[in-house]
Parts: sequence; C-alpha cells; structure tokens
Amino acid sequence: MTLLRPQTTQPLRRLESKSACPYCGTGCGVIIEHDGQHITGVRGDPDHPANFGQLCSKGNTLHLSSAGEDRARAPLQHRRDSEDWSPLAWPQALSRIARQWAEIIHTQGPQAVALYVSGQLSTEDYYVANKLAKGFIGTNHIDTNSRLCMASAVTGYKSSLGMDSVPCSYEDLDTADCLFIVGANVAYAHPILFRRIEAAKLRRPELRIIVADPRRTPTAAIADVFLPIQPGTDVALFHGMLHILIWEGLVNRAFIEAHTEGWEELKAQVQNYTPQWVAEICAIPVANLRAAALTFGQAPAALSLWCQGLNQSSHGTDKNVALINLHLATGQIGRAGAGPFSLTGQPNAMGGRETGGMPALLPGHREVVNPEHRAEIAALWGVERLHPQPGYTAVPLFQAMERGEIETVWIACTNPVLSMPDQTQVQRALEQCRLVILQDSYLHTETAAYADILLPAASWGEREAVVTNSERRITHLQVAVPAPGDALPDWVIFRDFAFALGAALDTLDHPLPSAKDASWTARARRMFDFTDSASIFLEYRECTRGRDLDITGLDFAVLDARGPQQWPYPQGAQAGQVRLYTDGVFPTPSGRARFRSPEYLGVAEEIDARYPLRLTTGRLRDQWHSMSRTGKVAALFTSDEEAFLEIHPDDARRFGLRADALAKIRSRRGSSILRVRLNADLQSGLVFAPMHFGRRYAPAALCNQLTLAAIDPLSGEPEFKHTAVRVEPMHFPWQGTILRLHDEDGHFYAAQRIARQFPYASLSRIHQGEREGFVLRLAHEQAPAASDIPAWDRALGMDGIDILDYDDGRREVRKRLCIRGNQLYAARLFGEDATRDWLREMLLSAADVQSYRHALFAPKVPADRDAWARSRGVCACTGVNERTLRQSIASGAVTLDQIAQVCGAGSECGSCKPEILDLIRSVRQETS
Ligand code: SF4
Repeated sequence: MTLLRPQTTQPLRRLESKSACPYCGTGCGVIIEHDGQHITGVRGDPDHPANFGQLCSKGNTLHLSSAGEDRARAPLQHRRDSEDWSPLAWPQALSRIARQWAEIIHTQGPQAVALYVSGQLSTEDYYVANKLAKGFIGTNHIDTNSRLCMASAVTGYKSSLGMDSVPCSYEDLDTADCLFIVGANVAYAHPILFRRIEAAKLRRPELRIIVADPRRTPTAAIADVFLPIQPGTDVALFHGMLHILIWEGLVNRAFIEAHTEGWEELKAQVQNYTPQWVAEICAIPVANLRAAALTFGQAPAALSLWCQGLNQSSHGTDKNVALINLHLATGQIGRAGAGPFSLTGQPNAMGGRETGGMPALLPGHREVVNPEHRAEIAALWGVERLHPQPGYTAVPLFQAMERGEIETVWIACTNPVLSMPDQTQVQRALEQCRLVILQDSYLHTETAAYADILLPAASWGEREAVVTNSERRITHLQVAVPAPGDALPDWVIFRDFAFALGAALDTLDHPLPSAKDASWTARARRMFDFTDSASIFLEYRECTRGRDLDITGLDFAVLDARGPQQWPYPQGAQAGQVRLYTDGVFPTPSGRARFRSPEYLGVAEEIDARYPLRLTTGRLRDQWHSMSRTGKVAALFTSDEEAFLEIHPDDARRFGLRADALAKIRSRRGSSILRVRLNADLQSGLVFAPMHFGRRYAPAALCNQLTLAAIDPLSGEPEFKHTAVRVEPMHFPWQGTILRLHDEDGHFYAAQRIARQFPYASLSRIHQGEREGFVLRLAHEQAPAASDIPAWDRALGMDGIDILDYDDGRREVRKRLCIRGNQLYAARLFGEDATRDWLREMLLSAADVQSYRHALFAPKVPADRDAWARSRGVCACTGVNERTLRQSIASGAVTLDQIAQVCGAGSECGSCKPEILDLIRSVRQETS
C-alpha cells in the first residue's frame, strides 16, 4: 500500500491511497481517504490523466457506498425456497463446491460447467478465472457481462482494423474539430468525458458536434447538428453519410489506396443509400443528414464516440464497421483528434478483453480458434492442449443452462437476473442448474435469490489490482482498507478453488491429461502458484509479449512511479502509446484496414398493431448498473427516485396515460409497471425506461422482463435498444406510502420485504442535508389486511412511544405518525396519501410538528403550506431542486456561472450542467 501525505498530528489517522473509480470505463483516478480500517472520503486524483482531479456525482459519493450491513462477510449457503442463509467456513464452502464440480466434470465432462464473470473484476481476477476455466478445467464456457455492452465494439474493431484495439485517447477530445457522438449519452454515462467536451467547446466554439440518437438526451444539448434517428437505423445513416461524402468528393483517395481494402465493393453498395432513402429510413430531414456528412467530411480532424446505442443491437457489429468505414474513407484515423473511439461501459471491460476473459478469446488478444494461439497459451500455462471451440456467449450460455446442458455456473461480481435480457428465461435457467455459485461483495442482489452458495468478495479499496480504461490506460489500484469479515479478493477465491477442485478430482481418480503432473492437486499448485496481485500481473504480461498490447515494460513499480500508462508499453519503453495506427499499417494479414459492406437490416422485433411502440432502455445520470453501490447513497436518488416510463405527450394521450400515474408496459415476453413521465422532446412512437431498477427498489418495474434475447450473430451482444411494446393505464384503487428517517439498515431491508408483497412498489432513499431516510410507495387492487400492518410497523421501528394513529376501517384508511421530541421520524399513510410530500418535507427538514398537529392527518396539505410541495432534485451535490432553479432563472440567472452563483447548482461535480442548460432553454421557451 502506498500512502500519500500521512498526517500523524491528527488524533484519527488520516491516510490516502490511490485508486480508480469502479463505475464507468472513463476510469477516473481517485484518492481514497481512510484511517487504515474505514474509508472516510474520496476525491479526484489531480495527477490522473483520465480526469485531472474531477469526479462526477457517482464518483464523488463512492466513500458512502462501500461499508454497510449488506456487505458479504462470510461464505453462506442457502436453500432456494428460503430467505435464510447459513454461514460456512471457507474450506467447507470451497470443498463442497469442488466436490460437486468434480463430480459433474468426471461424469459429464468439462463442458457442463461454466463461469459468468464481470467487467468490474480486475485484470488479475480475469486472468486467474480464465486460466481456471480454459487451462485447468478445460471449458471455454466463460463469458462476462461485458458481453452486454462492448462485445460489438470488439468484433467491429477486429473486423475492420484487424485487432480489438481502441486507436484513440482522451486527449483527442481536446484537438478534434468535429465530434460525432452516436448512440452514447455521454453526459450521463461518462460525465467526466462530457466535462472535457464542454470545456473543448467553450475553448474552441468552432468545434462542431453532431449527436445522433433516437432520444434527445442531455448530450444533445451541446450538439450543432442533432439527428433523432429511428432506433436501429445507424447502418443506413452511416452509409447515407458516406454516399454524400463520395458525391461531394470528400473522401481521402490517397489514404484509401495506400491503407485499405474493400473500397470498391463498399462504394458500389452505398450508391444505393441515397440521401432521400436514408432520410426516410432514419426519419430525419435530408438537410440534416447532409449537414452531418459535410461537417464530418470537411473537418480537419473528426472523432467519433459511441457506446451502447451501437453495440446493444442484433446488428451491433454492422453498426460498428459502418461507422469505422467513415473514418477509413476520410483518412480520419491515426492522427491527433481523429479516429473511431468506443467508450467502455465498465471500469475494466478492457482488462477482460486483454486477458481473454471471453469464450472465443485467449490472453493477449488471441483467438481460441487459432491453433498457434492455443499452442502459445498452452505453453505459457504449462498445459497439453486447450479446447479448440469457443464457448457460449452470455445469452446462449443461459439457454444451455435451461436445457440442462450446463449443469453448474459460477457467477462472479455481476447480477444477471437483473441485467440480462428476457429475465424470466434467466430465472428459469438458474432454477434448472444443479449448483449456482455467486461470488459478490453484496448480499441482496436479485441473483442471490437463485444462488446455492454465496462467496464474499473484497471490493473497491480493499484489494490491489490493475484495471484498463477506455483509452487503453492501465491504473494500479492500491489497497486502502481490509475487506470486511472473511471476504477475499476474487483472484484468491479462484486460486483456492483450483486447489480444492484439484483435490476433489484426485478423490474421483479423474484422468490427468498427461503424466506431467503427479496429481490434479500438484497440477493446481503448479498452475496457480500466485502469492499476490503482482505475481499474476507478471505472468499475464508475458502473454502480451510481442502482441499489439505488449506491456512487458510495465510493472507495479513503473505504474506507481510514472502514473497510469497506456498500452502498448513494451520492454524498454519510457511511455505508453497515445494513439495507434499512426503509420497507416493495420494488424491484418495485408497490413490494410478493411472496408466492410453490411446491409441495413433493421431491428430484430418490429412494431405491429399489438405492440405499436418502440422501447429503448438506458442509464440514469446518478445510478450505475443494478444499483448495488449507488443504491446505498441517498443523494444519488435526488434526480430520479422512481423507475419511470418516458413517453411523448401525444402518445400518452393516445394510450390514455397521465403524468405521474402508473402504466403497464407489455412485450411478447412479459410486463412491467412504471410511473409515467411525459417528455415532449422524445420522438413520438418511442418510449424509454431506465435499466437499473430491480426487485430491491421496484419489484414490478423490471425493464428486462420486456427485452428480447435476440443477439448479434458475430458479437453475441443482445438487442437492449429496441423492443416492441404496448402500454396501458394501470389503475390501482388502493395507494399507500411509508416514510422513515434512517436509524438503521434493518428498516430499509424490512421495507424491501414489504415492497415485494405488493403488485406495485417503489423504494427510494431520500435526504436533505445530513438527514436521510426512505420513502416506500405502494399500490394494490385492495387494501392490505389490517392484521398484517402491526408486524410491518414493528419491522420498520414504527412502534415507539409518541405515536398518533388514525384508523378508518370502513374506508380502509389507516395512518400512523411517529414523533420523537417534536419531530416526525416516520409516517404510514395507507389508503390515502395526499399529504405524502408535505410530511416528507417535514420529516427531512426536522420541522417542529407541534403547530401542525391538528393538520397532520388531514387529507390535504394545509392551504398555506404550498412551499412544502416537492420538486425533483437536479444537482446531487448541492441538493438544489428544479423549483429553485426555475426561480433562479426567472430572476435573471441564465448562464451556468450565474446559476452557480445564485443557488450553487452545478458548481461542484458538474454532472447536472446539461440539465441546467436544458432547463434554461425550456424556461426561456415558456416565457418567450
Ligand atoms: S465519470 Fe464518474 S462514474 Fe465514470 S469513472 Fe469518472 S467518476 Fe466514475
């Protein structure tokens, strides 16, 4: 552990360790503040080239997300029909799993076992897991949740450029003359990169920005040209742009001739993609299509940024290669400010790609199907042979589980029951498995309910490791504090399991592949002789020697001395390589980049009369993935505290939906209940739902109950971005609300259990200053039985001394207010909750309730209490809400600086700036 600035004069030891944010692929450097036992704070690392000290709202609150009663501290076993877990000692847990895995391997063969891991694992974790699966066990069935976000970028790069290597760097954002942002809501998903884009635009107003996205996201607020294309039409858009570039003589003939192949075929194909036809397919004006093409083609340096909007598609690879075609045709690659730059969703999805943590890959950007690659890795690992067939990617893997072909799965650091498409299929698959192992840092994820054994993993700040961000930059993460209880780093768990499995295979006399080792036990000891992260890193880096991602010049000491470095960084290098292909030579057999000529094929599931709307799913600004971490931070619920369905007002009218009411949304696979949010900026016919919410926060609002398991044939990535759905109003005659100030975590978990008993429920954390709590909103066809309510009150700690009760059994209105001192600390409003927001504000503001006692049970907020009305939070750092911002704008604050001065919003991490700008725009429109 390297400590910075120890301050020994403080009574509490104040220590600092360098790390990186564990959320998105921007890979911001952070400095963890701690006392050696507990993480006490976090701030951006000013020396890290990804963020230079800045953090977004999620990174800024990391220290609030690590501890808590929901951390897994010991191995646990679980009967699937029970919510009770019982602890196991590590040796007991590993040998129980090993016995079952050995028996399955012995009787069914190694192809009956599988691992499903995560882009949040470190490079070392990935390497050991991959070696365990492919090298020791002999199964290639190991996939990762990166399959759900980056797989199409991998196949796109490999298909067009020859290797899965991101050619650009963040510093290209500073020098690009044109930014083409397509299928990426950078303002929400990569906020620190968006800060960099905003700064570039401010510094150089001549920077042109094109945003193509079916939704007008906050990213579009910065666009000079916005293309609200129909979902799934990206290939047509790119071909149409290329058609115009050819017509206008804006292609780079010299580059095409010297450095590419396949041009004539592509040129012939895009001839058919006339501007009129493309504009019709994409449903955008021809003039805007032309403007985008000319802006891109005339820019001295054009950089494109993309993310899930291209990747999460049944034609994701086609979309990637069609976009890369634009760069190759114009020579916009291998130069400062130019190139195709995929943004990575997860903190170490890149590390997984590098170490071969996918079913078709081997370490060092090698391929399972390539005999030379297999031989090289077999030699490095000291094994006789590797299985020549790629394993299953995520969706087919879970389908194979349901068929019984895969009998056991080990899930590490991911939550497929929430994040995979067609959730009910995933649930059936896990139910079918003989043994489900979940390795996680948190106890209550949606997947835990299907696990037989839960293994506790160390988390952020608790393990030494390296990770690689979107720009190929490797950061060394230092240990700050010990992991809670018996939790261990993931690689230690995989290593120790290899030892246990070796022993179990010996017990069965399972045949060894050769006489090289005396036993499976000896084989495991030889292959997993790792003592620390550094020893794994040194073995892994040998796999990169002579490859495009050669990092043989790096070790932890170099990373600590010189800071995070980009690959390649071969032996003898003094610095990493900022951008690739500067010499125009590509890692293909001919050395030329390849133009690919995919046809536009549309979406996998078209709308029709029964399912007339297009659902697209995506991320919120302040939540990340399945909310295991961000769901613990009250400030991160400020902007969006409930799962919602965004719909255009015209569509809402057409289908009888009202703002803030509930709607049922149905697809061919299932249904979900979401609160309606109207958005006039959304194109008609399109609806949007966030992907984060699971049964812990909104048990009925699971958007992946709706999505389909159609996958890209090359990348295996599912089509999350388009599902045909229909909507209808969902009227529940009975409504209820529970408000509770935070006293202990147990009350929150009790609220989660209560929520699951209702057909609709939404649980969110709330806060104001230092006061935190939660709100549980409930709805049902009928009132809950009166006999159930006392147990819920007890579980929520709402049975103290100063209690006010109101019971109207005939109308099923049952209210309870809990007062401590003169302050409200909890409220139950069953059957009538019109005062919900008023009481919530009283609870959070610690208002003296004495003077309102006569009105507390009134069905309406007292007339003179309008000021209590709730307003959606916009700035997570300062807590400034939309009402305050509107008042500030009305009083003349019409720039970001003025707003920051008047009310403070946007003055800290800056994540809310795009929304403030949008609000300024809409207030001015309303008043003009
Ligand atoms: S942009 Fe935000 S979430 Fe992403 S790495 Fe940086 S601080 Fe973390």
